[in-house]
Amino acid sequence: MNRPAVEVADILRALGSRFIERHQSWLRVQQLKVMRAISRCRTAALGGHIDKCLRCGKDWGLSFNSCLMGSISLWGVSCGNLRVC
Ligand SMILES: [Zn+2]
Repeated sequence: MNRPAVEVADILRALGSRFIERHQSWLRVQQLKVMRAISRCRTAALGGHIDKCLRCGKDWGLSFNSCLMGSISLWGVSCGNLRVC
């Protein structure tokens, strides 16, 4: 799957600090945590892993971890790292 040219995380990394400065009076801690998690998602800040096909073991290469990787059992959300060819 191809990634879009610009993702929400890109926007947060570029403009998030300025947004927080301007709107800190009404932003809640939970909202700041979500913004931080999204801006760190799929960067070296969260580490990485090797993607392999679940069926044949084909190596798809290295990927940075998603901010949702620990959430599968908690939220029933798939982070998209489980693949087959
Ligand atoms: Zn395979």
